[in-house]
Amino acid sequence: MHEMMVAENLLAVISDEAAKRNVKPIGAKISCGKLYAINDEALCFAFEAIAKGTDCEGLKLEIEHKPIQGRCIKCDETFSVDLSSPKCSKCGSDDFELLPDAPLLLEEIEF
Ligand SMILES: [Zn+2]
Repeated sequence: MHEMMVAENLLAVISDEAAKRNVKPIGAKISCGKLYAINDEALCFAFEAIAKGTDCEGLKLEIEHKPIQGRCIKCDETFSVDLSSPKCSKCGSDDFELLPDAPLLLEEIEF
């Protein structure tokens, strides 16, 4: 279960930022690619468990899943791949390559 590792990293970074500002964080927004396969519930649960007793206790996590990006071989358009009908949003071709998944990012911390 990699949510626990992600939660530990997040807690470390958020605690660090909070300590620098000497304020209590109340929320954090992260984003990651779809292929990263983060389970929102599992991550929130893991975070809650390890944040207990720290400044981050009760912090609200918001997770945004970024769509997979593809690049059309025919017209070179870059687009978000709709997995239910994967084709180019510009020319409709299904001849495209998948771009690397978005990394896990801490977008912002709310204090
Ligand atoms: Zn195209």
